[in-house]
Amino acid sequence: KLVKEDDIHVIHGSKSHEPLSKEAIGKEICKTFQSMQQDAVAMIDVFTKEKLLYSELFQKSVNLAVKLRQHGYCGQNTILAICSENCLEFFTPVYASLFNGSIMAPINHLYTPHELEHALNISKPKLVFCSASVLPKLLQLKKQLNFVEKFIVLVIVNNTFANTEDVQSMDDFLQNTNISVSTFKPFEGVADNMAALILCSSGTTGLPKGVVLSHQCLNVIFNYSRDPRYKADSDTHTSLCVLPLFHAYGLMTCLTGFSMSRTIILFKNFDEDIFLKSIQDYKINWLGVAPPLVVFFAKTQKLNQYDLSSLKGFYCGAAPLSKTTEEQVKKRLNISGIRQAYGMTETTLGVTGLDSDDMRSGSCGKVLSSIAIKIRDPETGRSLQANNVGEICVKAPCVMMGYYQNEQATKDTFTPDGWLKTGDLGYYDEEGYFYIVDRLKELIKYKGYQVAPAELESILINHPKIDDTGVVGLPDELVGEKPLAFVVKKAGADITEAEIKQFVAGFVSPQKRLTGGVIFLDSIPKNPSGKILRKELRKIIKNTLASK
Ligand code: AMP
Repeated sequence: KLVKEDDIHVIHGSKSHEPLSKEAIGKEICKTFQSMQQDAVAMIDVFTKEKLLYSELFQKSVNLAVKLRQHGYCGQNTILAICSENCLEFFTPVYASLFNGSIMAPINHLYTPHELEHALNISKPKLVFCSASVLPKLLQLKKQLNFVEKFIVLVIVNNTFANTEDVQSMDDFLQNTNISVSTFKPFEGVADNMAALILCSSGTTGLPKGVVLSHQCLNVIFNYSRDPRYKADSDTHTSLCVLPLFHAYGLMTCLTGFSMSRTIILFKNFDEDIFLKSIQDYKINWLGVAPPLVVFFAKTQKLNQYDLSSLKGFYCGAAPLSKTTEEQVKKRLNISGIRQAYGMTETTLGVTGLDSDDMRSGSCGKVLSSIAIKIRDPETGRSLQANNVGEICVKAPCVMMGYYQNEQATKDTFTPDGWLKTGDLGYYDEEGYFYIVDRLKELIKYKGYQVAPAELESILINHPKIDDTGVVGLPDELVGEKPLAFVVKKAGADITEAEIKQFVAGFVSPQKRLTGGVIFLDSIPKNPSGKILRKELRKIIKNTLASK
């Protein structure tokens, strides 16, 4: 059909409460850190109880920034990566990179060597900061990653480590550098021209890509963190972080948390008892979570073992939240509701959310300030009015600069007149509250983690006994969606579901395994140009479930 873009029905967020800074973020971060009290605590490792003070975080980041400059690892031509489970040392390279105007690419530490190779090949970093537990996986790939000049290990465990020319501990790299933070000068530049981060996302189609976020994107979310309309009324200055730091949600909530001088209680993995006990001990008011954690609160038998009366509510995003789960949790915890927000890596963080004095069950909120959203009819390109379902499209200063070195994917993700196509289907009501109803894009979300069907299909198709395949999500109450593969066997070949599952598990991290199972078909439904008709595959799942 003829696509004719129009901007007749656009919903604009309110004016931002203060003008958006046009400068690179480093100066503002330094100012914030300098204003902190000497003994203010930035992070506590919930398992070891080890603390990191703001003064230490600042000092370490400045030391590293200066050391990196001495080696020429600074400016926009330098890409660095970090691949580590959540730990107190995570933000030192992140801030050093922001101070130096270089670009940081956080990578999922659970990735298998197969996934790491793909992820690191997107951004081709010169240095990779990693944890001791990730290092062996990286070293297996050293030959393939010949663009990496050095691996720097954040913390050495059990002294079992020898520095070599290309693998160094952070301490050895720093060599007792001690720079005066008061005279330190971060790189300056124009915020919307400067890339700050490259995050992984598969977007609306295909394999994972590198989402380039600018300093401007960070300015926007720092602005929100100061905006009284969005600040939850909190009695304490402490937040829990169970979200992984390589994902936009975890990374951005911590960066904004630090900009508000909060103390972050950091989880490297989820532990039911420690989690509930931390809410009790630190008297947490608001929790930032993804839907699987809300489900945990709906189901756990341990609620009355802890005093959770400090909890006022949840912020929830990253995947759809069912109304039933929300209702159960409201009742069980006696809270007023769950504040949903909606966004994607490509928009830095949320583009819709609720004001702190607003609550609307089932809605992911209204358009946030300085953001414009329209609901676009994917067939005609026309903007739609209230209560009509279409693709959510975004224009905002927090929208990515593009996919790193992938012009085609970038072009495909924007309309000709510059709207980011999210691949999500939704609508807004007469009052401007947004509702997400479905996904137009291929993406599967398992516990809020991205699973790109194309990635699993590219693995499956290489199996000598598989002729064709298509992967979709199997709806699941606990995890959201489980990856499920439709498989066409090669003529005369014999292969079982278990063999296929095991084959895939050899290549991918746990969230991408075929936990949804395998369904054998005679052919994969496709359109005339060979595109998999995922809607048809989902229909087969629905029918199979209905007949059970
Ligand atoms: P990610 O880039 O990993 O954050 O994934 C972004 C995608 O997660 C969005 O495009 C949506 O499909 C989904 N998502 C995020 N927030 C919500 C929400 N509140 N409700 C439904 N889906 C969501």
